[in-house]
Amino acid sequence: MLKVGLTGGIGSGKSVVAARLASLGAIVIDSDRIAREVVAPGTDGLREVVAAFGDRVCRDDGSLDRPALGEVVFADPTARARLEEIIHPRVRARTAQLVAEAPPDAIVVNDVPLLVEVGLAPTYHLVVVVRAAEATRIGRLVRDRGMSTEQAEQRIRAQAGDDRREAAADVLLDNDGELPELYAGVERLWHDRLVPYERNVRTRRP
Ligand code: ATP
Repeated sequence: MLKVGLTGGIGSGKSVVAARLASLGAIVIDSDRIAREVVAPGTDGLREVVAAFGDRVCRDDGSLDRPALGEVVFADPTARARLEEIIHPRVRARTAQLVAEAPPDAIVVNDVPLLVEVGLAPTYHLVVVVRAAEATRIGRLVRDRGMSTEQAEQRIRAQAGDDRREAAADVLLDNDGELPELYAGVERLWHDRLVPYERNVRTRRP
């Protein structure tokens, strides 16, 4: 099994890359999605979040009120750390379970927005970083996500800088151009790097 960490700044194109890799045969594990699942209605995760931050972060229908939680943790690093203590171990456990369920010759791609910030790079055989200029990313976030320019800039500033992320990369995928160029880059990555690497990892195994 080859374990690939996929990351990139917000709006860089990680989800597009992950979807393309899935269509080529990768098993994609989406950390953002798991982070939502572990605090879905009725979960222990949600109960712990509500115990830590109060009923104000829970909607009447029993679901997490993300904007309310965001307000609580945004300005308070201690609250944010507490939230991460609840969420991260659950995400790690679920991820490990999904990896364990994958076939032994799988190429598993874990899409993790904060891979570098959380210090996870050493846990993968290969780290792929999608990069795009800040102006390109802001343009996409405004166009496709309905953010204002200020919101997009604020989100970008809350993440690690491009230099730090790119320093952790084994492979850089440029996504400043049109989608067909990105797809071509993903296909090269798959055929030239990931598939041969997986074969190597497999043959080196006792
Ligand atoms: P997040 O960190 O928020 O999950 P992301 O890195 O996963 O962001 P995507 O959702 O893949 O980013 O891309 C952001 C938006 O930009 C999406 O709407 C996507 O369709 C669009 N997009 C990505 N790459 C390109 C491109 N080369 N040309 C045009 N649009 C693009």
